[in-house]
Amino acid sequence: MKYWNPYLETLPREEFNRIELSYFRNILSYAKEHSVLYREKLHHIRSDDIRTLDDVKKIPLTDKDEMRKYQEMEPFPYGGLLGSDIGKVTTFRQTSGTTGKPVYVPETYESWQWRIEAWCHILYMAGFRPHHRVFLPFGYNVYVAFWEAHFASEKVGCELVPGGALDTKGRIHKILEIRANGMMNTPTYGLHIAEEAKAMGIDPASLGIERMLCAGEPMPPATRKRLEELFRCHVFDHIGGTEPCAWAGMCETKEGMHIIEPFFLVEILDRETLQKEVKEGELGVVVVTPLGRRSFPLIRFNTKDLVIKGSEACSCGRTTRKIKEVVGRTDDLRKIRGVLFSPKTVEEVIRRDFPEVVEYEMMVERKGIMDEITLKAELTPNLGKEEGEKIKARLKESMKVKTNLSFHVKIELPGSLPRYMLKATRFKDMREGKTNE
Ligand SMILES: [Zn+2]
Repeated sequence: MKYWNPYLETLPREEFNRIELSYFRNILSYAKEHSVLYREKLHHIRSDDIRTLDDVKKIPLTDKDEMRKYQEMEPFPYGGLLGSDIGKVTTFRQTSGTTGKPVYVPETYESWQWRIEAWCHILYMAGFRPHHRVFLPFGYNVYVAFWEAHFASEKVGCELVPGGALDTKGRIHKILEIRANGMMNTPTYGLHIAEEAKAMGIDPASLGIERMLCAGEPMPPATRKRLEELFRCHVFDHIGGTEPCAWAGMCETKEGMHIIEPFFLVEILDRETLQKEVKEGELGVVVVTPLGRRSFPLIRFNTKDLVIKGSEACSCGRTTRKIKEVVGRTDDLRKIRGVLFSPKTVEEVIRRDFPEVVEYEMMVERKGIMDEITLKAELTPNLGKEEGEKIKARLKESMKVKTNLSFHVKIELPGSLPRYMLKATRFKDMREGKTNE
């Protein structure tokens, strides 16, 4: 079977619109009744005021700071964000807290099942099937993504192998030992496994991974291709977050991602005003309303994810809306010497044109009145000094062409730059008043 849910994934647009409007009105009245945040925030709005999907835009966005504020109330630890009776909460999750105090997320059994069902769409779309033995190379802790991956794998019928509490070498041995043929990981960790395998004298392609589902970082096509070449496998991407859930995933065409409709109402808004929907091919900020999760209702959550809006047609036959590309997060974009800079550009250039670079790090500092940007690169251990110098010059040149900024390039000793298990933080903004979040 091609689709996880053949009925929902191929609905005509008018049907999606009708269903999403009706779900939106339901979750809006539910949230106003059960969540203190929305009772106070949206007291002036009635669900009868929302007659079309355009009317949704009359409702103010929800952001993380306001969620943190309401979380401080009773009942501990979810406060005014809780949408169910606390006795019905069966699972605690939280955000990573990299941008401040973590947000605690309550899931009831019902809301968790809803989340898993949405995730199954992503997994199935990426070609995961019951014959896959899927290795999850992480300890799950309190973070939602791996738990979702775990339970969705089971529901789709895959055989799931939890790979926490092992180091990378141990994980590589385990993959070989049990002949795993699927894996879910951050792009960074996929590259790290490949590097470590090579150091152990094992060709990553011989690990036998056929399918890989990635998330957690923007993955430019060049990074995806590099993973595909290294592991000789198919690599897919998806996007989501702890609060809004995973809301889009890649199909077999590997062109952009399908929004998981009608589970989510996804708006892509003009990033200056955050009001108007952008057109196909334009850059916008993603605002998500999960339409069926009641334990933690969210109405128009500003994800701060920057994406390029995609088309509404796909050769896979699904009729759900698409995003063309994930660009990063609004917080990732920085002005350096008056030029708008996105760390994803560097990632793309390195993964596409510099197979010799195994790890890198960037740093911007203020020297006097000037911003200076430094790129540190670590090369494959077999290269000599002369080759290193050539790569250094090529890196400098490529960065200038792609970003319009002059970089200082430093070649570092093998093994000296940090390796990341989860989300990589390869870009550090050290200028005054800037944080690295
Ligand atoms: Zn498709």
